[in-house]
Amino acid sequence: MPETLISVDLRQSPYENEQVHNRWHPDIPMAVWVKPGDEFILETYDWTGGYIKNDDSADDVRDIDLSTVHFLSGPVGVKDAEPGDLLVVDLLDIGAKSDSLWGFNGFFSKKNGGGFLTEHFPKAQKSIWDFHGMFTSSRHVPGVSYAGLIHPGLIGCLPDKKMLDIWNEREVGFIATKPDRVPPLANPPFAKTAHMGKLKGESRDKAAAEGARTVPPREHGGNCDIKDLSRGSKIFFPVYVDGAGLSVGDLHFSQGDGEITFCGAIEMAGWVHLRVNLIKGGMAKYGIQNPIFKPSPITPTYKDYLIFEGISVDEQGQQHYLDVHVAYRQACLNAIEYLKKFGYSGAQAYSILGTAPVQGHISGVVDIPNACATLWLPTEIFEFDINPSAAGPVKHIAGGVDLPLSED
Ligand code: ZN
Repeated sequence: MPETLISVDLRQSPYENEQVHNRWHPDIPMAVWVKPGDEFILETYDWTGGYIKNDDSADDVRDIDLSTVHFLSGPVGVKDAEPGDLLVVDLLDIGAKSDSLWGFNGFFSKKNGGGFLTEHFPKAQKSIWDFHGMFTSSRHVPGVSYAGLIHPGLIGCLPDKKMLDIWNEREVGFIATKPDRVPPLANPPFAKTAHMGKLKGESRDKAAAEGARTVPPREHGGNCDIKDLSRGSKIFFPVYVDGAGLSVGDLHFSQGDGEITFCGAIEMAGWVHLRVNLIKGGMAKYGIQNPIFKPSPITPTYKDYLIFEGISVDEQGQQHYLDVHVAYRQACLNAIEYLKKFGYSGAQAYSILGTAPVQGHISGVVDIPNACATLWLPTEIFEFDINPSAAGPVKHIAGGVDLPLSED
């Protein structure tokens, strides 16, 4: 086996592990160095650093301090990497930590994080998913099981100071357009809960005050939450600093397109087996501004889908101009209403859409005034037939069972 260069102890606070960080800043020292061509393993915490527990209460999802996330393993320095290169990263394999064969999905309270359907599910709820080899199922969501499409929700290289300043300026400026919004438009730097890896002293405090939060995807990749970035993928990352500084975390056992529940996919602690290489000067050679990647040769083969359409007319009947966000929300809400006819609660159905290998497609963006988005629900993940028929839907799921919910 290749060497494990970063280990995490799930019984220990991630703040005590100097090979972990939760902000983006060029001054964070490399946790470890490798050479082009090297293979190695990095272990990671789940994105909350172990805050969410395997139990039947959503209090932890309600109470979590979201300024602490995401706990990333790295940065990994790659010898000879220079600004303008492309870092080629092979995700050779990914798995759950053997002492933690479970994951969680939740909806944040609207007052603390929210989510894609927060107006419909404003309270904290949680489901626990157990791993059975390559499959997962949940005591909170009966009647479904599926193969994992394991991937890192978050992976990318350190920004340089110029890029960091661009991020902070545009996001802080954006927040200022609606400073009182709940949930907020974006998350500004926040020093108090920053974990800057090995950085110490005054330079640590200065960097903590300006380190970019890890929540959004940005030019470097970061928290893209792309389910297809799974084991076997090859990713080409822009390099901004000497050594590149690759970090990874937020592993997902499975996720639907959009990660609509926000807390989020099936979140887990685990390990990533990586190989790195360089394409010198690759950013200019290929005109690369954002990462590009090749998919895995091995993915779960669900061939049959029930596909829900949504258009850019919102729940109040208001027209929106070619808005795919509104259209995808309608497709999701349509799927939830449909699944409720089989006995699921709305929350259970929402949890399925967030965690199963559901596909989301932008189907049309030119037919004014309506965008059309589609949500592809794999039918084979259900233990019963969910197709429409003249006989009507059968309630396969016993009523009264729901996800743990916590009042604000
Ligand atoms: Zn995640």
